[in-house]
Amino acid sequence: MSEDSLYQQLRSHLAYLRLSAAAEALPGELDYAKAHKLGHTAFLERLLGVEVDATEIRRRSILERFARLPSPWRLADFDFDAQPAVDRNMVNELGTLRFLEDATNVLFIGPPGVGKTMLAVALARASIDAGYRTYYTTAADLVARCHRAALEGRWATTMRFFAGPRLLVIDEVGYLPLANEAAAALFQVITTRYLKSSTVLTTNLGVGSWGKIFDDPMVAAAMLDRLLHRSVVFNIDGDSYRMRAHRARSERLREGVAARAEN
Ligand code: ADP
Ligand code: MG
Repeated sequence: MSEDSLYQQLRSHLAYLRLSAAAEALPGELDYAKAHKLGHTAFLERLLGVEVDATEIRRRSILERFARLPSPWRLADFDFDAQPAVDRNMVNELGTLRFLEDATNVLFIGPPGVGKTMLAVALARASIDAGYRTYYTTAADLVARCHRAALEGRWATTMRFFAGPRLLVIDEVGYLPLANEAAAALFQVITTRYLKSSTVLTTNLGVGSWGKIFDDPMVAAAMLDRLLHRSVVFNIDGDSYRMRAHRARSERLREGVAARAEN
């Protein structure tokens, strides 16, 4: 076979195997191999390396889009000094994602503005980076979605959807009271994931007050049982980060004014 038809044959092999990045890189890599006198092994390694990189990027971006994270926060962005109520070592341990292996849940409990969503999103980001299927939702969205699903006869599909991700973030539980159907939806999502995959949940209500968001205190108790059975709980009772920044700014302004007044 001529060099030319061999080349065409190779291209069609790559196309048949859907190795389109390698197919595209082929002419350039052949030239490179010739110029640098690469052996077969080195050439093949480079060519397939191109395909592996492309696949990795594609996979990452699919995971990324699927997860629907509301912001790009990472653990490195979190200012631990500003929030001493958050155990830095514990957060760093969670950042290793070992907690996903035994389906440990993580609860961030605290008033608005203390960084609950930020930490939950940062863990979700780490999970995406590690290649795990990850999904972010607020409790309100989860409940609305389950409600629609019930009306449209897609309840089972929707439960399978929420069972799927290796890490599920349910943000803002407790901001809205959950009536029977809504509580049942949340309860079932927690139950289907129980001991199988990790859920990260944020709430403004201490677990002692969970009875208040659910009409049925038994449902609240059963849900907490499953959530807490294997869990890491952060009680973040510090100041709101935004308020703190605001206060620091006012403080600086005041000091500036006072300094000027003295001169
Ligand atoms: P919560 O979910 O507890 O209401 P958020 O996570 O939304 O609070 O945080 C509110 C804002 O303050 C966000 O912009 C967040 O990035 C920022 N923030 C909160 N805590 C910290 C922190 N310790 N370091 C850096 N930014 C923080
Ligand atoms: Mg929040």
